[in-house]
Amino acid sequence: MNIDIYETDLKKIQRKINQITKKCHITKEDKQKYSNILKQSIPKARSRKKWPHFSYQNLKCQCGCEKMEMNRDFMENLEYLRNAFNRPLVIISGYRCLRYDTKISKPKEKKIHTTGCAVDIKISGKDAYDLLFLAMGVDFTGIGIKQKGAMDKRYIHLDNLSKEDYPRPQIWSY
Ligand SMILES: [Zn+2]
Repeated sequence: MNIDIYETDLKKIQRKINQITKKCHITKEDKQKYSNILKQSIPKARSRKKWPHFSYQNLKCQCGCEKMEMNRDFMENLEYLRNAFNRPLVIISGYRCLRYDTKISKPKEKKIHTTGCAVDIKISGKDAYDLLFLAMGVDFTGIGIKQKGAMDKRYIHLDNLSKEDYPRPQIWSY
């Protein structure tokens, strides 16, 4: 177990949380609560090699091509987020092949899912609030929010693309 890694991560996350919370109306209690959740989850997330909370079935392209080329760093981040969130995350879209992406993606997210650095998570209400807060703390740079209409159709898109390829950081709504 490499304590140094945890310590560095912890400091980085704590700094991010401080930056974010400075700018928004969040209570001290909430801030403390989120910090505690993250602190507890880091050793758990780092002690695993793969991403035990996400399966090939959930992440593969849904067109029938069976391709699944998720990015390792992205998946590590996602697993990390899942541990911090401490509840199941339902993936409604993970990897997409170019053909399928061209067919179904919205103008705002053309090709993003073909990079293997993006997922759409089915989520709403307070869960969406919690997830959003944690996602910003662990380096997701692209956040798309669909939180209107039927509850079971609501979701949050997360990616960690770099500003070289896309305008990042960026937050948008559908
Ligand atoms: Zn496909």
